[in-house]
Amino acid sequence: MIVGVLVEITNRNVDKIFDYKVPKNLENDIKVGIRVSVPFGRMTIEGFVMEIKESSELSDLKEIIDIVDKDVVLNSELLELGKTIKDKTLATLMSCYQTMLPKALKAKKNSTINIKYDTYYMLGNTSGKFNNKQLEIINLVKEKGEVLRKDLIDISLSSLNTLIKKGALLEVKKEHYRVDYSNEEITVKELTPDQKACVNAVINGNDDAYLLYGVTGSGKTEVYMEIIDYYLKQNKTSIVLVPEISLTPQMVKRFSERFGNNIAAIHSALSEGEKYDEWRRIYRGEAKIVIGARSAIFAPLENIGVIIIDEEHSDSYKQSDPSPRYSAKEVALIRGKTHHCPVVMGSATPSLEAMARAKKGVFKLLELPNRINGRELPKVEIVDMNKCLGKSKGYFSPDLITSISNCMNRNEQVILLLNRRGYASFVSCKNCGFTFKCPNCDITLTYHKSSNTMRCHYCGHGEKVFDKCPECGEKALSNLGVGTQKIEEELNKLFPNNKIVRMDFDTTSKKGMHEKIIEDFKNHNYDILLGTQMVSKGLDFPNVTLVGVINADTSLNIPDFRSSENTFSLLDQVAGRSGRSEKEGKVIIQTFNPDHYAIKLVKKHDYLEFYNEEMQIRRKLKYPPFYYLCNIRISGKDTNYLLVEANKIKRSLERNLSSTIILGPSNSSIFKMNNIYRFNILLKYKKDDSLYPILNKILEHYKTNSKVKVDIDFNPSQTL
Ligand code: ADP
Ligand code: ZN
Repeated sequence: MIVGVLVEITNRNVDKIFDYKVPKNLENDIKVGIRVSVPFGRMTIEGFVMEIKESSELSDLKEIIDIVDKDVVLNSELLELGKTIKDKTLATLMSCYQTMLPKALKAKKNSTINIKYDTYYMLGNTSGKFNNKQLEIINLVKEKGEVLRKDLIDISLSSLNTLIKKGALLEVKKEHYRVDYSNEEITVKELTPDQKACVNAVINGNDDAYLLYGVTGSGKTEVYMEIIDYYLKQNKTSIVLVPEISLTPQMVKRFSERFGNNIAAIHSALSEGEKYDEWRRIYRGEAKIVIGARSAIFAPLENIGVIIIDEEHSDSYKQSDPSPRYSAKEVALIRGKTHHCPVVMGSATPSLEAMARAKKGVFKLLELPNRINGRELPKVEIVDMNKCLGKSKGYFSPDLITSISNCMNRNEQVILLLNRRGYASFVSCKNCGFTFKCPNCDITLTYHKSSNTMRCHYCGHGEKVFDKCPECGEKALSNLGVGTQKIEEELNKLFPNNKIVRMDFDTTSKKGMHEKIIEDFKNHNYDILLGTQMVSKGLDFPNVTLVGVINADTSLNIPDFRSSENTFSLLDQVAGRSGRSEKEGKVIIQTFNPDHYAIKLVKKHDYLEFYNEEMQIRRKLKYPPFYYLCNIRISGKDTNYLLVEANKIKRSLERNLSSTIILGPSNSSIFKMNNIYRFNILLKYKKDDSLYPILNKILEHYKTNSKVKVDIDFNPSQTL
């Protein structure tokens, strides 16, 4: 028996299948998709069995050393999927498989993670004579079928031991999973007619993909759960993708309240042991509904009934680094095709790409235009910070201070967002809010401290930093940002009698803190929740009637063509946290750009108008969804050499591509990182059959050049 093995080295030079002989004693356990260890050069490394065959074209084959894990970790669907992802992203096949497999599974070998066991008792042979104490135990076990050792607290240990010795009780060890979603009573909500219509469209429809466009609080999550329930009753499985930050305890709780231990939730707050347990429950088919961030799309489920992608617009579904730079949405569509199951993408602010496809009929559009129970969307007030100079207290405008006070007087709660996207990497005027933009590409110029210049990361256009603002003439240019801690201090001074809690990267890094803050805020142990983007999604607090955005502008200034779209969706999402229950909600947005369409249209809650405006800009500037983008990153230690090579790459692209627009090479926004310099070449194209062949050729050409690293990113989520 011969096996073709893909070895676990993610180097392009060895990204191919090597043949090995199988020793007789291992033949019975060999299956496609298992891990084996093999000799490779002078090393022993692991690899996946990709094929089993009788003969090889090569003679003098080495033998595999051992089987690492008898379980198939990559079934035939996932093996194929890896190949497809490799073809689409031009990554190495091995890197695709490594991305698909949870790290927790590998960790087993290092045995830092152990399997936990519980001891149970079951009835054995109970013929014979027993005393009263012993009979008591026997009857208890008889009644329950099996009893957990931990539950036998009041009984006599010696009686128990005697029963075991006599064989009347059998001791059984069962794996104990560290996570438990079991649930006493299932809670199901009666759906509204609008919600029912969406559910029916999916379960009775025959489209491949659906876009559920529903305003915040319209009940999208309930729609997902109803669809999942329908497939669960047919014994089919489901995948639910959510952005990492909306994998809040609240979201997991809602799913577990409905589905109990049918769910497995995979997120970064789990310990390695918990993750390991969750994955085993999935492998064994015990968990039928997998909820997780991006990589959960690879969950080894069989017989998938539906794939749900919540907050479809989130850029977290695209992996930027490391390779493979895949899109979980694209993978979902591929798996959907394989399993003949629908893919449902939901959002209050769909990505332009998704809405454009829905309007073309590629995705079926479903809508939930209203909040549940006819509740109004919150009233949004825009505060022009240009007019507040001299009147604000720190970062707080008089309007925001008054609104918070009123809210506190009514004993209601407030969420404040400090927008940290695009923080401090651009130059703006503190006086008028002016920011520098590239004349060619209309994106914000990025500040480079070392050279005191501003640069465009698409075309390379550069300018020296001015000392006066070209707009208002004040010497107020600055590249400084604010942190949540600073805002918290200001808040404490402004509202000394109220309790404030901060939720950001620092305060949630300790395990369980995220949950605790949410629980405490829900129980009204705090009046004001101040946080970064974490507070914008997935939270449902009925007593919150005011949402304040301290600074709407930072994310507008990210040097990326999606900055308006991302700002609109961030503001609309966070606004959606206000007034979700009986009480009316209000939102205050502080901005230096009150006339920017992204901000004005959040006030009107008008996604569709935003979509139309933004589409015009995208068409004019040849951005997605009108053009596809592909970023080629060229990195290495020697800038001069790199630039020469980058220009060679550009010329060979120019020679081979006729309809593709080629921009750059320009400096990447993080131009130097760990002494590695990075240049970008950005491609804009509609359809170019020569693209993949020439990119493959370039990768092939540089794979043995240790001075130049070429990375390719199709549909990059950010083009920095
Ligand atoms: P979305 O996901 O669109 O933001 P949710 O599914 O979180 O909306 O629903 C918003 C709120 O309305 C939640 O508190 C939810 O429990 C409640 N809700 C949703 N659907 C119903 C329904 N059919 N009946 C009663 N309450 C509902
Ligand atoms: Zn430019």
